[in-house]
Amino acid sequence: MMLDVDEGKGPIFMQTAEAIENLSTAEPDEKKRKRKLKELESEAWEDFLDMTISQAILWAATNVAPDEKPSEIAAAEPYFIGSHSGASGAWVSGPEDMAPEEYKWGYCNMATTAGVFCAGDASGASSHKFSSGSHAEGRIAAKSAVRYIVEQGAALTEASPDVEQLKAQVLAPVALFDEFSGKSTDPDINPEYIRPKQFMFRLQKIMDEYAGGVSSAFKTSATLLEKGLSLLDFLREDSKKLAAEDLHELMRCWENIHRMWQAEAHVRSILFRQETRWPGYYFRTDQPKMQDDWKVFVNCKYDPGKGTWEMIKRPIIELVP
Ligand SMILES: Cc1cc2nc3c(=O)[nH]c(=O)nc-3n(C[C@H](O)[C@H](O)[C@H](O)COP(=O)(O)OP(=O)(O)OC[C@H]3O[C@@H](n4cnc5c(N)ncnc54)[C@H](O)[C@@H]3O)c2cc1C
Repeated sequence: MMLDVDEGKGPIFMQTAEAIENLSTAEPDEKKRKRKLKELESEAWEDFLDMTISQAILWAATNVAPDEKPSEIAAAEPYFIGSHSGASGAWVSGPEDMAPEEYKWGYCNMATTAGVFCAGDASGASSHKFSSGSHAEGRIAAKSAVRYIVEQGAALTEASPDVEQLKAQVLAPVALFDEFSGKSTDPDINPEYIRPKQFMFRLQKIMDEYAGGVSSAFKTSATLLEKGLSLLDFLREDSKKLAAEDLHELMRCWENIHRMWQAEAHVRSILFRQETRWPGYYFRTDQPKMQDDWKVFVNCKYDPGKGTWEMIKRPIIELVP
């Protein structure tokens, strides 16, 4: 499908009317067939409203009755959806009773940062997460976190951070807005700060154009990625100038900062991985093939003290041969 679009054969249509029709034609009795059609239609609506609400909204907004005409869809797999993506997420320790030593180093579900526990879409090394599994993993991670606090609690209290300093850091975007918003007549245009929406557009544009986004047909190269990294450097510099008018914008400021780090980790990972992950993820035009020696997990680790990144290959061990 993505290759067809690449050849200019788009757009892609989802033939819902045909699919519903085909499913019901197996029933020879006309009355039963009509009932079956109604059932299939309501099931389809339920599924879409459960999982892909935006598709149902799009149908309503574009006058599409899915049982009557097809709707246009776009391939968009490479986004950072932990659940249905390239095994993205934090590298967390496996359970104690797990065999491979490479996959465990401490408390179950603890990330490589001590005291950070992850579950569900936040934990990596699994490319297809589900609601029920995430819920179960959440319970396991929470119990493990409680055990960590009980066993390590005393040491943790001694090392507790300066709360006032953390508060000032979290609220810094509000202070910046309060101090400088009067400097210009339009609060969007100000030499002293950047608003979260502007920051978001800039981040999206960098990722789209340099890191194999949808408008670049999911293609990128080392040269594009290196250039993207230098633009992310400037963005990181400007993140210190994020300003928030209210609490909602404050939330958006921090969301942007987290997404910015996530974006850089992604760019560094696909730059490190000397291969293409295609069809479905991204295409490295300078490394056009999938490579067997890259059938590994890739970790990246940031050292905040030194401001450096370390890239690590982790083996994929088949747990069920
Ligand atoms: C389109 C789509 C279809 C899917 N279909 C299915 C399906 O049919 N069946 C199935 O089993 N699974 C399905 N999944 C996968 C499933 O939804 C996820 O794997 C699961 O929801 C992950 O649960 P989670 O608790 O890890 O993450 P989430 O459900 O994403 O929960 C994370 C929560 O953290 C909150 N949050 C984020 N940042 C902050 C912050 N800074 N402070 C406070 N809160 C914050 C978010 O708002 C969110 O509520 C689907 C996923 C998608 C995207």
